[in-house]
Amino acid sequence: MAKEPEQIFQPFTARHLEALRKLVGADRVLADDDANGAEALETYSHDFTEDLRFKPSVAVLARSAEEVSKVLAFATRERIPVTPRGAGTGLSGAALPVRGGIVLSLGKMNRILEIDTDNLMAVVEPGVITEVLQNAVAEKGLFYPPDPASRGSCMLGGNLSHCAGGPRAVKYGVTKDYVYGVEAVLPTGEIVRHGGKLLKNSTGYNLTQLLIGSEGTLAVITKIFLKLIPMPTRKSLVLAPFDSLEKPAAAVAALFQAGLTPSACEYMEREALEAGCRQTSEPNPFPNATAMLLLEVDGFSDAEIDRQLETLSTVLERFGAADMALADSPERAERLWRIRRSIGEAVKTRAVYKEEDTVVPRFVLPELLKRVKSICAEYGVASVCYGHAGDGNLHVNLLKENLSDDAWNSELPKCITRIFEAVRDLGGTVSGEHGVGYVQRRYLPIVYGPAELALMRAIKRAFDPAGILNPDKTLP
Ligand SMILES: Cc1cc2nc3c(=O)[nH]c(=O)nc-3n(C[C@H](O)[C@H](O)[C@H](O)COP(=O)(O)OP(=O)(O)OC[C@H]3O[C@@H](n4cnc5c(N)ncnc54)[C@H](O)[C@@H]3O)c2cc1C
Repeated sequence: MAKEPEQIFQPFTARHLEALRKLVGADRVLADDDANGAEALETYSHDFTEDLRFKPSVAVLARSAEEVSKVLAFATRERIPVTPRGAGTGLSGAALPVRGGIVLSLGKMNRILEIDTDNLMAVVEPGVITEVLQNAVAEKGLFYPPDPASRGSCMLGGNLSHCAGGPRAVKYGVTKDYVYGVEAVLPTGEIVRHGGKLLKNSTGYNLTQLLIGSEGTLAVITKIFLKLIPMPTRKSLVLAPFDSLEKPAAAVAALFQAGLTPSACEYMEREALEAGCRQTSEPNPFPNATAMLLLEVDGFSDAEIDRQLETLSTVLERFGAADMALADSPERAERLWRIRRSIGEAVKTRAVYKEEDTVVPRFVLPELLKRVKSICAEYGVASVCYGHAGDGNLHVNLLKENLSDDAWNSELPKCITRIFEAVRDLGGTVSGEHGVGYVQRRYLPIVYGPAELALMRAIKRAFDPAGILNPDKTLP
């Protein structure tokens, strides 16, 4: 089987620090030799993945593709590992500098270069915060749908690198469905371009899509072409309670069979909703429900919304959700969304945890839920599940709670392996949107065989012969 690129790195020395300061300017190279630098390195040593920490030797704040090119060519020559970094909100440890070396921050490349209202395209640098682009295009009546719950802080380069999704994916798709071109810098320093404001392109290998989801292991993205669509003018939000864990997921399949595509279709079990309500100090609208669906419909006329709400209530009633709450104002809808968006953080404050980002075909989601609960019971691990039911994407939070350290450390990997085997058997895979990064790569052989893994390693070698770019990520 083909091996990973050789990863023999040089220790980072004072000579390297001086050379980097000459390359891009001393003000944009942060190291331990001053208080600001030391603080920045502390920040760059972690992301939002559990409690992992790896300190880099230095952080470089890039301002242009040319600077990124100089830094990468230098790092390849000197065999120094480089970890690209957006906002550091990742949940799979993909931005952790696990081998030290250089953290290459793209946060200062944060210009919206163009909003092209004729071609419905935006051209952006990778450090633009997702919500900043969404607000800028909304002012022109346009819509950039991918909406990770972290959209107020995560960056478009990070979204592209993980192929981020969010609640709207069910109707509008995920990041890959909007990226039509990129400019990127190879680890050897060459600047490459592929695609652009083109809705069609069958010219050679699709390098744009290859870079999506590549988690900063193949190239550093310096420019992105994004498709925009007209902004729907009406929407309506409903919270529906159910008396079982599985009925909501079954109701979702029935909604699609009835011809309805909601613009969001979120699943929360009781403990997830309770955690979100606690976090936001909101009352729980359905304290006795076992599980809930948060459903949004959108469109361009009141009639369109009414028709969708009618289908929705007819179908949901069949599954026992007669007592639905309709958010009767934009403020009320925003409060419900705030509860939903805060669940991830809220659940994690409850106990030591490990989050899994399972995804299966939508129709088998009820079966996945059943299997997750039964596997967790077998290993004595508590779980709280929520996620994007319309996409078959279930976030499974495994909580340590009363387990001893020994039991948690020995049982958790077995429990996770069993969950992913169940996911695979149901036609699913290891991550729907959070990526593989550092913490999930050991589970990849559950879903990929030797041929797929060898192909991925060959791609990595072709892009990064010295193996300096984001080592120990994505591939097992
Ligand atoms: C509260 C919370 C809620 C979340 N909700 C969602 C959700 O609903 N849906 C979802 O999909 N995710 C969600 N996430 C996860 C996270 O926000 C996303 O994965 C996001 O896309 C990461 O963006 P970032 O800018 O923080 O990237 P980082 O964490 O900084 O980096 C992520 C990866 O991208 C690489 N990278 C970053 N920029 C570049 C670049 N320019 N070129 C090459 N590689 C680069 C890094 O090396 C790393 O591999 C959530 C996270 C939190 C904390």
